[in-house]
This record gives sequence, structure tokens and C-alpha cells, in this order.
Amino acid sequence: MKFLVDFMLGRLCKWLRLLGYDASYFVSDKKSDLIYQSLKEGRIILTRDHRLSKKKAIRLIIINSDLLEEQLEQVFSELNIKVDPEEIFTRCLVCNEILQEIKKEKVKDRVPSYVFQTKNDFSFCANCQKIYWKGTHWDLAHQLLKKLKRAKA
Ligand SMILES: [Zn+2]
Repeated sequence: MKFLVDFMLGRLCKWLRLLGYDASYFVSDKKSDLIYQSLKEGRIILTRDHRLSKKKAIRLIIINSDLLEEQLEQVFSELNIKVDPEEIFTRCLVCNEILQEIKKEKVKDRVPSYVFQTKNDFSFCANCQKIYWKGTHWDLAHQLLKKLKRAKA
């Protein structure tokens, strides 16, 4: 499941990546390019632009809510998908690349010392070199997932 996220939905894009989805961020206002890219890369467009709905040849979801939880709910329910907890934090939040594991010894000078002392599992993005570990964002992601599950029940 691959997404192309309109620039108005930056937060949603980041959270889709955090949950492990391939989400490209579309920063231009040129709708023809948006449609072209979605067709070329087989991506589902997520947008707030109602004008796009008239074009039937493209796969898209018009996001209704301003709230992140409701936006995610809408995407997951319309596509009938469920988040795989194993996939959380497998992608770089900045550039959408798949993260790679990195040995603890190698990150010593690249993370805050309290992180190095308390964490054991690290991963990194080969594209932007950002280091990730199971910290605050990890907890936030799990809290969010719990909320989403509750909303479904
Ligand atoms: Zn990156």
C-alpha cells in the first residue's frame, strides 16, 4: 500500500511513515503532477482538495477531518487495512527510506549520551543518516494505535 500525500496533510504523511507505510509527500500545487506521479508510482492520493474527486481515473481519498486520529481512521477504514505493529518505525520520517539496523557501538557519538546509556536497539537512514531508537515517538505511536483501536470498537 503506497501513498502520495498532498502538501496540506504533512502531519498525516509523517505518521503514515511512522507506522511503516510508504508515503511520498507532494509539495507542489500542480495537480497534474500529483496525478501523474500517483499513476506512475501506483500510489493512492490522500488530499483535502475536493476538486480532485471529479477525475475518476485516479485512486484517491479525500480526507475530511482536521484531526490526525480521524484522518488515520478514515484511511484505514476506507482501504480496510490494519496497522502491523512490526512495521512501526521501519521508515525514516524525513525521507521515507526503509531504515537499517545499526550496532550500538557505532552510534556512540551520534546520539545523546542518556540515550546511548539506556537504549540498545538503533536503526538509521542511509539517505539522511538520521539515527532512530525506541524513544518518545515509539511510545506516542503505541498510544495512538490504542486510541485507533478503541475508536473502532
Ligand atoms: Zn532519512
